[in-house]
Amino acid sequence: MTKKDKNTKNIIELVEVYLSLGTNVGDRLDNLRQAVSLISEFESCEIIKVSGVYETKPWGYTEQDDFYNLCICMQTELPPYELLNKCQQVEKELDRKRDFKWGPRTMDVDILLYGDLTNEDETLTIPHKHMHERAFVLYPLMDIDKDLIVKDKTIEEWCELLDDEEKESITLFSEKLNA
Ligand code: ADP
Ligand code: MG
Repeated sequence: MTKKDKNTKNIIELVEVYLSLGTNVGDRLDNLRQAVSLISEFESCEIIKVSGVYETKPWGYTEQDDFYNLCICMQTELPPYELLNKCQQVEKELDRKRDFKWGPRTMDVDILLYGDLTNEDETLTIPHKHMHERAFVLYPLMDIDKDLIVKDKTIEEWCELLDDEEKESITLFSEKLNA
């Protein structure tokens, strides 16, 4: 996707990006609203669509409260590591404590997809490593684009492959974040 810069008339590449947000500490709905609001203020970014809000059982470490999750589709001019940096600033602003891996968090913002980019290092893995096997990612993405292709399958096909436990780990809390 491209657009013309108003001042220079240069063609700008816009990349379609998908983010996953999760929270299980404090006022979860308010945390999501604050995070989406901060993301909507990112320079050179435009939010195209926000999924419904889903309540999900914790993954990995299960002795913690349930999460609220959603996904966002946006267009951006920001390079991937800059975008990651901004997402981590949102986590910081929401006072996220990083106690231990997969532990409770006020806000987790992950980059799922960045256009067609594949990247694999410790700082940034895209597509996100586990996105095709997690209901808390796939269900919100179904709201946005069920035909979106990830790792050679559509979101809908990946959803059908989830086992019963994963399918039962998620319920729709609200179709709209600001309902
Ligand atoms: P997780 O999201 O796996 O539960 P964290 O949010 O604590 O765990 O992230 C740990 C690290 O994962 C971050 O420091 C970040 O650099 C890295 N990371 C790798 N790929 C991604 C990605 N696609 N989106 C967000 N963070 C990523
Ligand atoms: Mg994360």
